[in-house]
Amino acid sequence: NTSSNASNKAENVLVTVRCRPLTKLELLGQAQVAFDVDDEMRKVSVAASYVESKGRTNIPEYFYDEVVTGSDNKDLYERSVQDLVRSTMEGFNGTVFAYGQTASGKTFVSTYGIDEQPGVIPQAVDDVFTYIREAPNREFLLRVSYLEIYNETIRDLLAPEVQDLRIHEDKKRGVYVSPQKEEIVTTPKQVMKIIQKGEANRHVSTTDYNLHSSRSHTIFQLVVESRERGTSGIGSPLRLSRTPGIKKDHGGSVRISQLNLIDLAGSEKAATALDRRKEGAYINKSLLTLGTVISKLTEDRSSGHIPYRDSKLTRILQSSLSGNARISVICTMSPSALAMEESHNTLKFAARVK
Ligand code: ADP
Ligand code: MG
Repeated sequence: NTSSNASNKAENVLVTVRCRPLTKLELLGQAQVAFDVDDEMRKVSVAASYVESKGRTNIPEYFYDEVVTGSDNKDLYERSVQDLVRSTMEGFNGTVFAYGQTASGKTFVSTYGIDEQPGVIPQAVDDVFTYIREAPNREFLLRVSYLEIYNETIRDLLAPEVQDLRIHEDKKRGVYVSPQKEEIVTTPKQVMKIIQKGEANRHVSTTDYNLHSSRSHTIFQLVVESRERGTSGIGSPLRLSRTPGIKKDHGGSVRISQLNLIDLAGSEKAATALDRRKEGAYINKSLLTLGTVISKLTEDRSSGHIPYRDSKLTRILQSSLSGNARISVICTMSPSALAMEESHNTLKFAARVK
Protein backbone atom coordinates (compact mmCIF):
# COMPACT_ATOMS: atom_id res chain seq x y z
CA ASN A 1 0.00 0.00 0.00
CA THR A 2 1.69 3.13 -1.28
CA SER A 3 0.22 5.68 1.06
CA SER A 4 1.46 3.90 4.17
CA ASN A 5 4.84 3.53 2.50
CA ALA A 6 4.94 7.25 1.98
CA SER A 7 4.23 7.96 5.60
CA ASN A 8 6.86 5.43 6.71
CA LYS A 9 9.30 7.22 4.49
CA ALA A 10 8.49 10.57 6.06
CA GLU A 11 9.19 9.13 9.49
CA ASN A 12 12.63 8.11 8.33
CA VAL A 13 13.51 11.78 7.97
CA LEU A 14 13.71 13.82 11.16
CA VAL A 15 14.08 17.60 10.96
CA THR A 16 15.38 19.59 13.92
CA VAL A 17 15.87 23.33 14.23
CA ARG A 18 18.52 24.30 16.80
CA CYS A 19 18.54 28.00 17.62
CA ARG A 20 21.66 28.99 19.52
CA PRO A 21 21.75 31.77 22.15
CA LEU A 22 23.15 35.16 21.13
CA THR A 23 26.95 35.01 21.15
CA LYS A 24 29.08 37.35 23.30
CA LEU A 25 29.83 39.35 20.20
CA GLU A 26 26.19 39.71 19.29
CA LEU A 27 25.39 40.72 22.90
CA LEU A 28 28.16 43.34 22.81
CA GLY A 29 26.63 44.69 19.64
CA GLN A 30 23.27 44.75 21.45
CA ALA A 31 21.78 42.44 18.88
CA GLN A 32 18.03 42.22 18.99
CA VAL A 33 16.40 38.80 19.21
CA ALA A 34 14.14 38.39 16.19
CA PHE A 35 12.74 34.91 16.76
CA ASP A 36 10.56 33.20 19.31
CA VAL A 37 11.68 29.61 19.58
CA ASP A 38 9.35 27.28 21.45
CA ASP A 39 10.90 23.88 22.26
CA GLU A 40 7.70 22.51 23.67
CA MET A 41 5.41 23.57 20.83
CA ARG A 42 8.20 22.76 18.36
CA LYS A 43 7.54 26.09 16.79
CA VAL A 44 9.62 28.98 15.44
CA SER A 45 8.04 32.37 14.78
CA VAL A 46 8.98 36.04 14.67
CA ALA A 47 9.30 37.58 18.14
CA ALA A 48 6.52 39.97 19.17
CA SER A 49 9.14 42.51 20.29
CA TYR A 50 10.62 42.47 16.82
CA VAL A 51 7.26 43.00 15.18
CA GLU A 52 6.59 45.87 17.60
CA SER A 53 9.79 47.66 16.76
CA LYS A 54 10.05 46.87 13.07
CA GLY A 55 6.55 46.20 11.88
CA ARG A 56 5.14 43.10 10.28
CA THR A 57 7.28 40.55 8.49
CA ASN A 58 6.46 37.97 5.86
CA ILE A 59 7.77 35.12 8.02
CA PRO A 60 5.05 32.64 9.00
CA GLU A 61 5.07 30.26 11.98
CA TYR A 62 7.03 27.08 11.36
CA PHE A 63 6.64 23.70 13.04
CA TYR A 64 9.27 20.92 13.00
CA ASP A 65 9.84 17.45 14.45
CA GLU A 66 12.16 18.94 17.07
CA VAL A 67 12.93 22.53 18.03
CA VAL A 68 15.84 23.07 20.40
CA THR A 69 17.22 26.19 22.07
CA GLY A 70 20.23 26.54 24.37
CA SER A 71 23.55 24.75 24.42
CA ASP A 72 22.80 21.27 25.66
CA ASN A 73 24.37 18.95 23.09
CA LYS A 74 23.48 15.85 25.05
CA ASP A 75 19.78 16.63 24.96
CA LEU A 76 20.03 17.44 21.25
CA TYR A 77 21.79 14.14 20.56
CA GLU A 78 19.19 12.16 22.49
CA ARG A 79 16.29 13.82 20.72
CA SER A 80 17.58 13.94 17.17
CA VAL A 81 20.38 11.44 16.62
CA GLN A 82 20.48 8.57 19.10
CA ASP A 83 17.74 6.43 17.53
CA LEU A 84 19.36 6.76 14.14
CA VAL A 85 22.75 5.64 15.48
CA ARG A 86 21.17 2.68 17.22
CA SER A 87 19.41 1.61 14.04
CA THR A 88 22.73 1.83 12.20
CA MET A 89 24.04 -0.77 14.62
CA GLU A 90 21.10 -2.95 13.62
CA GLY A 91 21.96 -2.81 9.95
CA PHE A 92 20.24 0.32 8.61
CA ASN A 93 22.07 3.19 6.96
CA GLY A 94 21.91 6.51 8.76
CA THR A 95 22.97 10.04 7.83
CA VAL A 96 23.01 13.19 9.96
CA PHE A 97 23.40 16.64 8.39
CA ALA A 98 24.26 19.93 10.08
CA TYR A 99 22.86 22.72 7.91
CA GLY A 100 22.99 26.48 8.47
CA GLN A 101 24.75 29.74 7.71
CA THR A 102 28.32 30.24 8.86
CA ALA A 103 28.51 30.96 12.63
CA SER A 104 25.04 29.56 13.28
CA GLY A 105 26.38 26.58 15.26
CA LYS A 106 26.97 23.66 12.85
CA THR A 107 30.38 22.75 14.24
CA PHE A 108 29.11 23.31 17.78
CA VAL A 109 26.44 20.70 17.09
CA SER A 110 28.53 18.25 15.11
CA THR A 111 31.87 18.37 16.89
CA TYR A 112 32.33 20.26 20.15
CA GLY A 113 30.37 22.83 22.12
CA ILE A 114 31.37 25.05 25.06
CA ASP A 115 33.92 23.55 27.48
CA GLU A 116 34.50 20.70 25.04
CA GLN A 117 30.94 19.51 25.47
CA PRO A 118 30.80 16.72 22.92
CA GLY A 119 28.67 17.24 19.85
CA VAL A 120 26.98 14.69 17.63
CA ILE A 121 30.11 12.97 16.29
CA PRO A 122 31.84 12.13 19.60
CA GLN A 123 28.52 11.14 21.20
CA ALA A 124 27.65 8.89 18.26
CA VAL A 125 31.08 7.27 18.44
CA ASP A 126 30.70 6.60 22.18
CA ASP A 127 27.23 5.23 21.62
CA VAL A 128 28.45 2.82 18.95
CA PHE A 129 30.99 1.31 21.35
CA THR A 130 28.41 1.15 24.14
CA TYR A 131 26.10 -0.73 21.79
CA ILE A 132 28.87 -3.20 20.96
CA ARG A 133 29.54 -3.82 24.67
CA GLU A 134 25.84 -4.49 25.16
CA ALA A 135 25.67 -7.02 22.30
CA PRO A 136 28.11 -9.74 23.40
CA ASN A 137 26.53 -12.26 21.01
CA ARG A 138 27.64 -10.33 17.96
CA GLU A 139 31.07 -9.43 16.77
CA PHE A 140 31.74 -6.14 15.03
CA LEU A 141 34.19 -4.62 12.62
CA LEU A 142 34.28 -0.83 12.43
CA ARG A 143 36.12 1.31 9.94
CA VAL A 144 36.11 5.05 9.49
CA SER A 145 36.87 7.43 6.68
CA TYR A 146 36.80 11.20 6.49
CA LEU A 147 36.26 13.13 3.28
CA GLU A 148 35.94 16.76 2.31
CA ILE A 149 34.21 18.24 -0.71
CA TYR A 150 35.47 21.64 -1.81
CA ASN A 151 34.47 23.14 -5.17
CA GLU A 152 32.98 19.78 -6.17
CA THR A 153 36.39 18.15 -5.66
CA ILE A 154 36.65 15.27 -3.22
CA ARG A 155 39.63 15.16 -0.84
CA ASP A 156 40.53 12.37 1.51
CA LEU A 157 41.32 14.02 4.84
CA LEU A 158 43.02 10.81 6.01
CA ALA A 159 45.26 10.68 2.91
CA PRO A 160 45.48 14.27 1.67
CA GLU A 161 48.32 13.48 -0.74
CA VAL A 162 46.12 11.18 -2.80
CA GLN A 163 44.72 12.84 -5.91
CA ASP A 164 41.90 12.00 -8.20
CA LEU A 165 39.33 10.48 -5.92
CA ARG A 166 36.51 9.23 -8.07
CA ILE A 167 32.98 8.09 -7.51
CA HIS A 168 32.30 4.54 -8.66
CA GLU A 169 29.24 2.37 -8.72
CA ASP A 170 28.73 -1.36 -8.89
CA LYS A 171 25.91 -3.72 -8.11
CA LYS A 172 27.51 -5.21 -5.02
CA ARG A 173 28.97 -2.18 -3.30
CA GLY A 174 26.59 0.50 -4.52
CA VAL A 175 28.09 3.97 -4.91
CA TYR A 176 31.50 4.53 -3.33
CA VAL A 177 34.62 6.68 -3.51
CA SER A 178 37.95 5.24 -4.57
CA PRO A 179 40.74 5.40 -3.67
CA GLN A 180 39.57 6.12 -0.14
CA LYS A 181 41.46 5.45 3.06
CA GLU A 182 39.59 3.48 5.68
CA GLU A 183 40.97 2.88 9.15
CA ILE A 184 39.83 -0.01 11.28
CA VAL A 185 39.03 1.24 14.77
CA THR A 186 38.57 -0.45 18.12
CA THR A 187 38.16 2.38 20.64
CA PRO A 188 36.35 5.77 20.75
CA LYS A 189 39.67 7.48 21.49
CA GLN A 190 41.17 6.11 18.32
CA VAL A 191 38.24 7.45 16.27
CA MET A 192 38.55 10.92 17.75
CA LYS A 193 42.30 10.90 17.05
CA ILE A 194 41.61 10.05 13.43
CA ILE A 195 39.13 12.92 13.18
CA GLN A 196 41.67 15.31 14.69
CA LYS A 197 44.23 14.14 12.17
CA GLY A 198 41.75 14.77 9.38
CA GLU A 199 40.95 18.22 10.72
CA ALA A 200 44.66 19.04 10.78
CA ASN A 201 44.85 18.04 7.12
CA ARG A 202 42.16 20.57 6.30
CA HIS A 203 44.44 23.27 7.74
CA VAL A 204 47.51 22.49 5.66
CA SER A 205 45.72 22.90 2.38
CA THR A 206 44.70 26.46 2.96
CA THR A 207 45.89 29.82 4.21
CA ASP A 208 42.45 30.88 5.40
CA TYR A 209 41.09 27.98 7.38
CA ASN A 210 37.86 29.67 8.43
CA LEU A 211 36.90 30.65 4.92
CA HIS A 212 37.83 27.24 3.60
CA SER A 213 35.89 25.36 6.26
CA SER A 214 32.79 27.49 5.74
CA ARG A 215 32.89 26.61 2.05
CA SER A 216 33.45 22.88 2.24
CA HIS A 217 31.38 19.89 3.29
CA THR A 218 32.97 17.26 5.54
CA ILE A 219 31.74 13.69 5.50
CA PHE A 220 32.66 11.45 8.41
CA GLN A 221 31.77 7.83 7.65
CA LEU A 222 31.63 4.81 9.89
CA VAL A 223 31.05 1.42 8.29
CA VAL A 224 29.62 -1.12 10.70
CA GLU A 225 29.91 -4.81 9.90
CA SER A 226 28.69 -7.46 12.27
CA ARG A 227 27.70 -11.08 12.53
CA GLU A 228 26.48 -13.39 15.20
CA ARG A 229 29.34 -15.01 17.05
CA GLY A 230 29.93 -18.53 15.75
CA THR A 231 31.33 -21.33 17.86
CA SER A 232 34.77 -20.61 16.44
CA GLY A 233 34.28 -16.87 16.49
CA ILE A 234 34.34 -16.23 20.22
CA GLY A 235 37.47 -14.47 21.28
CA SER A 236 38.99 -14.41 17.81
CA PRO A 237 39.09 -11.17 15.86
CA LEU A 238 36.45 -10.52 13.25
CA ARG A 239 37.78 -10.81 9.73
CA LEU A 240 35.24 -9.65 7.27
CA SER A 241 35.31 -8.26 3.79
CA ARG A 242 37.20 -5.01 3.37
CA THR A 243 34.52 -3.90 0.97
CA PRO A 244 30.87 -3.46 1.86
CA GLY A 245 28.76 -6.38 0.72
CA ILE A 246 26.95 -9.26 2.28
CA LYS A 247 29.00 -12.38 2.92
CA LYS A 248 27.44 -15.55 4.17
CA ASP A 249 30.44 -17.65 5.05
CA HIS A 250 31.99 -18.04 8.52
CA GLY A 251 28.57 -19.15 9.75
CA GLY A 252 25.89 -16.53 10.16
CA SER A 253 25.06 -13.72 7.79
CA VAL A 254 26.89 -10.46 7.91
CA ARG A 255 25.08 -7.19 8.51
CA ILE A 256 26.65 -4.10 7.02
CA SER A 257 25.58 -0.51 7.29
CA GLN A 258 26.98 2.96 7.17
CA LEU A 259 26.70 5.97 9.47
CA ASN A 260 27.46 9.35 7.87
CA LEU A 261 27.91 12.51 9.92
CA ILE A 262 28.06 15.60 7.78
CA ASP A 263 29.02 19.19 8.51
CA LEU A 264 27.78 21.14 5.50
CA ALA A 265 29.24 24.28 3.94
CA GLY A 266 27.68 27.56 5.14
CA SER A 267 24.28 28.08 3.57
CA GLU A 268 24.58 31.87 3.24
CA LYS A 269 23.60 33.33 -0.06
CA ALA A 270 26.27 34.27 -2.55
CA ALA A 271 26.15 38.01 -1.94
CA THR A 272 29.66 39.35 -1.46
CA ALA A 273 32.24 39.89 -4.16
CA LEU A 274 34.06 36.74 -3.08
CA ASP A 275 30.96 34.61 -3.34
CA ARG A 276 30.43 35.52 -6.93
CA ARG A 277 33.30 33.18 -7.69
CA LYS A 278 32.60 29.58 -8.36
CA GLU A 279 32.69 28.43 -4.71
CA GLY A 280 29.41 30.19 -3.98
CA ALA A 281 27.73 28.70 -7.02
CA TYR A 282 28.94 25.18 -6.17
CA ILE A 283 27.76 25.45 -2.58
CA ASN A 284 24.36 26.79 -3.55
CA LYS A 285 23.91 24.05 -6.09
CA SER A 286 24.91 21.20 -3.78
CA LEU A 287 22.73 22.45 -0.91
CA LEU A 288 19.81 22.96 -3.27
CA THR A 289 20.29 19.44 -4.64
CA LEU A 290 20.47 18.06 -1.11
CA GLY A 291 17.17 19.73 -0.26
CA THR A 292 15.55 18.32 -3.39
CA VAL A 293 16.88 14.81 -2.78
CA ILE A 294 15.73 14.66 0.84
CA SER A 295 12.32 16.10 0.06
CA LYS A 296 11.88 13.55 -2.76
CA LEU A 297 12.79 10.79 -0.32
CA THR A 298 10.00 11.90 1.98
CA GLU A 299 7.50 11.76 -0.86
CA ASP A 300 5.91 8.67 -2.28
CA ARG A 301 8.62 6.57 -3.94
CA SER A 302 6.71 6.47 -7.20
CA SER A 303 7.18 10.21 -7.57
CA GLY A 304 10.12 9.35 -9.74
CA HIS A 305 13.57 10.66 -10.43
CA ILE A 306 15.80 11.60 -7.51
CA PRO A 307 18.66 13.85 -8.72
CA TYR A 308 21.54 12.27 -6.76
CA ARG A 309 23.89 12.93 -9.65
CA ASP A 310 23.42 16.69 -9.54
CA SER A 311 26.08 17.09 -6.84
CA LYS A 312 29.07 15.14 -5.52
CA LEU A 313 27.65 15.18 -2.01
CA THR A 314 24.34 13.52 -2.86
CA ARG A 315 26.03 11.15 -5.30
CA ILE A 316 28.50 9.93 -2.65
CA LEU A 317 25.62 9.44 -0.24
CA GLN A 318 23.28 7.82 -2.76
CA SER A 319 23.54 4.27 -1.37
CA SER A 320 23.17 5.52 2.20
CA LEU A 321 20.16 7.73 1.53
CA SER A 322 18.13 5.42 -0.67
CA GLY A 323 16.26 2.35 0.45
CA ASN A 324 15.50 1.72 4.07
CA ALA A 325 17.60 4.53 5.45
CA ARG A 326 17.26 7.09 8.20
CA ILE A 327 18.12 10.75 7.90
CA SER A 328 18.37 13.47 10.53
CA VAL A 329 18.69 17.08 9.38
CA ILE A 330 19.77 19.50 12.08
CA CYS A 331 19.32 23.09 10.96
CA THR A 332 21.18 25.67 13.03
CA MET A 333 20.31 29.35 13.30
CA SER A 334 21.12 32.52 15.18
CA PRO A 335 18.22 34.36 16.82
CA SER A 336 19.75 37.74 15.97
CA ALA A 337 17.77 40.27 13.95
CA LEU A 338 20.91 40.87 11.88
CA ALA A 339 20.85 37.27 10.65
CA MET A 340 17.14 37.34 9.99
CA GLU A 341 17.16 36.82 6.27
CA GLU A 342 19.59 33.88 6.41
CA SER A 343 17.75 32.36 9.36
CA HIS A 344 14.54 32.57 7.40
CA ASN A 345 16.21 30.79 4.48
CA THR A 346 17.30 28.05 6.89
CA LEU A 347 13.75 27.73 8.26
CA LYS A 348 12.47 27.41 4.70
CA PHE A 349 15.03 24.72 3.89
CA ALA A 350 14.04 22.83 7.05
CA ALA A 351 10.38 23.07 6.06
CA ARG A 352 11.05 22.01 2.49
CA VAL A 353 12.90 18.78 3.22
CA LYS A 354 9.94 17.19 4.95
P1 ADP B 1 29.36 27.20 12.21
O1 ADP B 1 30.08 25.92 12.31
O2 ADP B 1 27.94 27.08 11.77
O3 ADP B 1 30.11 28.22 11.39
P2 ADP B 1 30.01 27.44 15.01
O4 ADP B 1 29.60 26.12 15.48
O5 ADP B 1 31.47 27.66 14.81
O6 ADP B 1 29.24 27.85 13.68
O7 ADP B 1 29.41 28.50 16.04
C1 ADP B 1 29.68 29.91 15.97
C2 ADP B 1 29.86 30.46 17.38
O8 ADP B 1 28.67 30.34 18.13
C3 ADP B 1 30.92 29.73 18.17
O9 ADP B 1 31.61 30.66 18.98
C4 ADP B 1 30.13 28.77 19.02
O10 ADP B 1 30.80 28.43 20.24
C5 ADP B 1 28.86 29.55 19.30
N1 ADP B 1 27.70 28.65 19.45
C6 ADP B 1 27.12 27.92 18.45
N2 ADP B 1 26.06 27.23 18.90
C7 ADP B 1 25.97 27.50 20.22
C8 ADP B 1 25.06 27.07 21.26
N3 ADP B 1 24.05 26.22 21.03
N4 ADP B 1 25.26 27.56 22.51
C9 ADP B 1 26.27 28.42 22.75
N5 ADP B 1 27.14 28.87 21.82
C10 ADP B 1 27.00 28.40 20.56
MG1 MG C 1 31.82 25.27 11.25
